[in-house]
Amino acid sequence: MIDWTNIKKIDAHIHLMPSDVIEANKEYGGNFIDFGDVEDYLKIMDKYNIESAFIMPFNDPYMLSMDFNVCTVHNNLLDMCGKAKNRLFCFADIDIRNDIEKTIQILEDAVRREEVLGVKIHAANTSYPIDGIYYDEIFKWANKNNILVEIHSYPRTHLMDDMCSPTRIKNIIKKYPKLRMSIAHIGGFQYEELTDLGLFFNISAILPDLVDKYGIAGTNKILRRLDVEKLVFATDYPDNRKLEPIEIYDKYFEILSQMDFSEEEAEKICRLNALKMINK
Ligand SMILES: [Zn+2]
Repeated sequence: MIDWTNIKKIDAHIHLMPSDVIEANKEYGGNFIDFGDVEDYLKIMDKYNIESAFIMPFNDPYMLSMDFNVCTVHNNLLDMCGKAKNRLFCFADIDIRNDIEKTIQILEDAVRREEVLGVKIHAANTSYPIDGIYYDEIFKWANKNNILVEIHSYPRTHLMDDMCSPTRIKNIIKKYPKLRMSIAHIGGFQYEELTDLGLFFNISAILPDLVDKYGIAGTNKILRRLDVEKLVFATDYPDNRKLEPIEIYDKYFEILSQMDFSEEEAEKICRLNALKMINK
């Protein structure tokens, strides 16, 4: 049996918060505030043998800065990465209130930093469709410059045309078939729309949800269907619809340890595929 707790890992999708945002929001609490401290997370990394982790922004500057400005968000993300060099990395953020020329300029500056692995697009948070023209300019730029784009995709089950739906993501792939793309939360329960397209999938947030609906064996089948060569370990810590923050890692490993992956496959899922995804 694979020891998922102790195998060396990368968590390819987590959330941490700048200390001034935590300080200002302490009395309101919430998982991001109560569990988003960098120093606390470094202890978790040691406990679970997490070699490195990728911090994701929200496309909402109110979450990661006190002046609600995407450039401050980037500075804050870089500061957090600086607290654990070569262990914490991040994705660049977008504020769609800015005109697209300004956004591209800010992204260009951001991805020059070695801590910044790509760009995160969260169409559910912005309520702007992932295949809309603003994002198209970003995909065009990412495609031209070979930049990795991570797309949040966890649509509401009954909506095939939700802002971040796989149906919409397919429009992007049709236009930019060579674009480097990672699908966070595997596309939710509409993942089938995205299989066989050569995309990376990370199992952040959705794994316990899948198990609730399809059981371990059914979920195991889905993960294999997404392709073991493209499957990336990630949790969305400290955020989860079904689990408390402190339960997330143990539950993920408990679920994965009941599946049929070999040692070699587990190493790919836990680390090697993420390295391939970020071109390292
Ligand atoms: Zn997330």
